[in-house]
Amino acid sequence: MFKNLTERFSKIFNKLSNQGKLTEKNIKETLREVEQALLEADVALSVVQNFTSSISKSCIGKSIEKSFTPGQELIKIVKQELIEILGKENNHLNLSTQNPSVIMIVGLQGHGKTTSIVKLGKMLKNTKNKKILLVSTDIYRPAAIKQLEVLSKKAKIDFYPSNIDQKPIQIVTKALEFAALKLYDILLIDTAGRLHTDKYMIDEVTNIQKKIQPIETLLVIDAMVGQDAINIVNNFNTNMSITGFIITKTDSDTRAGIALSMRFITKKPIKFISHGESLNEFEIFHPNRIVNRILG
Ligand code: GDP
Repeated sequence: MFKNLTERFSKIFNKLSNQGKLTEKNIKETLREVEQALLEADVALSVVQNFTSSISKSCIGKSIEKSFTPGQELIKIVKQELIEILGKENNHLNLSTQNPSVIMIVGLQGHGKTTSIVKLGKMLKNTKNKKILLVSTDIYRPAAIKQLEVLSKKAKIDFYPSNIDQKPIQIVTKALEFAALKLYDILLIDTAGRLHTDKYMIDEVTNIQKKIQPIETLLVIDAMVGQDAINIVNNFNTNMSITGFIITKTDSDTRAGIALSMRFITKKPIKFISHGESLNEFEIFHPNRIVNRILG
């Protein structure tokens, strides 16, 4: 996902490192190239403009052309600004002090909700030793409920059955009662998506959220949707309280832009990235590691 951006930045910075001295013209030129690289990576225009203007300000503030290693200094500034955009803060999950903690996953159909929720459950079970229960409110697609059941079994996590004759609110209420009774640490709720954002779907997930008050509501976004991610994110984020994102399919040959844009526009953190179909291909999103990966 970050490959193209990494290659572009590496070319820009190689050129820069070879220059003993930097003039204002060199800096401007470099910033134009950085801007171009980001736009080609599908970063939203407003984010790119903000990014390069912050870098310009830092360059002026530090008079980098006078520094001994101006190229390195500029690379450092770009790195700091990238981390700033992706969020410096610790992106770990919030788990309530009182069990069970409820985590709800929302998003469009096919973006990887079901796969991600099982991956998340598996990670929490294996790394934090949590007792996990999974439930689906997708009463429109029995195959989706079945898919969650099959994947739960594969991940050796408990699955709470639901069916198409129930209402989503009824399902989550019962699942939560059961989770409390059986002393589960975390209840993970998989919700129904649609092919496009529609009012009915948003109303449904908003109602579930109001009723159950999850400590985390994570929006799953398929990296392959490119610039359209911003519209999807805005549709969810303006109607309900999203606490963070999971970006999926980062193994595909897509551009890194959406990760930078989503965080910058919403100020909400990217918490996890999924990079394959297998249940282990899922990791906590660490902004500084990603930036190091991009900038080498
Ligand atoms: P949902 O409709 O949002 O629940 O999406 P699913 O979890 O059913 O995923 C849709 C498809 O995307 C499935 O074929 C998954 O195996 C696949 N998928 C999910 N996450 C990833 C990922 O990170 N990488 C790849 N390559 N495929 C993924």
